[in-house]
Amino acid sequence: MWYFISPEIIYGEDALSRLDELEGKRVLIVTDKQIVSIGFADKVKERLVKAGIDYQIYDDVEPDPSIETTKRGAEVAGEYKPDWIVGLGGGSVMDAAKAIWVLYERPDIEPAEINPFTPLGLRQKAKLITIPTTSGTGSDCTWGIVLTDTSERRKLALGCREAHADIAIIDSVFAIGMPPQLTADTGLDALTHAIEGFTSNWKNDFCDGLCLKAIHLVFQYLQRAYHDGHDKEAREKMHNAASIAGLGFGNSMAGLAHSMGHSLGAAFHIPHGRTVGLFLPYTIEFTADIAASRYDEIIHLLRLEQTRAEKAALNLARVIRELEQNIDQPLTINDLGISRDNFENSLPKLVSNADMDTQTVTSARVPTSGEFEQLFRYSYDGKSVDF
Ligand SMILES: [Zn+2]
Repeated sequence: MWYFISPEIIYGEDALSRLDELEGKRVLIVTDKQIVSIGFADKVKERLVKAGIDYQIYDDVEPDPSIETTKRGAEVAGEYKPDWIVGLGGGSVMDAAKAIWVLYERPDIEPAEINPFTPLGLRQKAKLITIPTTSGTGSDCTWGIVLTDTSERRKLALGCREAHADIAIIDSVFAIGMPPQLTADTGLDALTHAIEGFTSNWKNDFCDGLCLKAIHLVFQYLQRAYHDGHDKEAREKMHNAASIAGLGFGNSMAGLAHSMGHSLGAAFHIPHGRTVGLFLPYTIEFTADIAASRYDEIIHLLRLEQTRAEKAALNLARVIRELEQNIDQPLTINDLGISRDNFENSLPKLVSNADMDTQTVTSARVPTSGEFEQLFRYSYDGKSVDF
């Protein structure tokens, strides 16, 4: 027995007007100060006023939200007693909104206790709406929650099947103004979700088509969105791609680019999409033989030329590196400005955190600690190693 979980998805032009019809008394808008300052929270507030619903804003969510931030948000919710929680922002905000909602419903548990095997009995007090303002994380459509344990400099990949949004509003009006760097980082996150969701150990018939469509959309539209942020079609297609990839990998899990990305991101404070995008080609090479038929399908989908002599995975890894170069992304850890000494000193922790990450077990090929070390070293300078 297995499950496919999805929120009700509202998408396309004017999708935000779904809020006009919302029924309820109080909404807690979980967001960050940046989103408030650029006027996005106002767009939501206007709709809630129309619907005759009171609101309160909790805008203390930081990038890579900490456990403490979500606990404080849950206290705010506990006092305000909302019947809806709205997560308005990027992946950090939406993950924080999910955690705040869970802790508001269940003040008796700690965030680290949120796991896929323990039912939580959510939706007794409130329901959740997610509104992504970036095009990549897919958190609007998944039940995963990534929080940071700041004392341990470690990311916690949590989640529970009940912790998905009731309604996801996919309106690219929020993506139009995204700066190029954020467009690149988040777009590569979407691509990584789609490829890892299509090749993970938990891949399945219900997710395959979604992952393939998202891969195709990213290859078609990411460069356009990066080079011309006001290209409305490219923005809308990337916004859709991110949520489609979210549905895909959210129901089939991710892989090693995520384990390694979480580990490096927590150690050096690098945005999530940049780290997973960096590791993606290396981890595709590492899983080349195990997931060979899957990489064949992607090459076929993208109509790339494929010689018999070259493995499809190596072809795909090369094309992804070309895409990354075209949108000015780092190809190695060295490119991120991390010195060799700093990297070597952190290596044992990088390896052990990647090893413990929940996305490792669902990878097409699970590395030994020694192989993880090799993969990190290879990703440091791109000097090939023999797996
Ligand atoms: Zn991701």
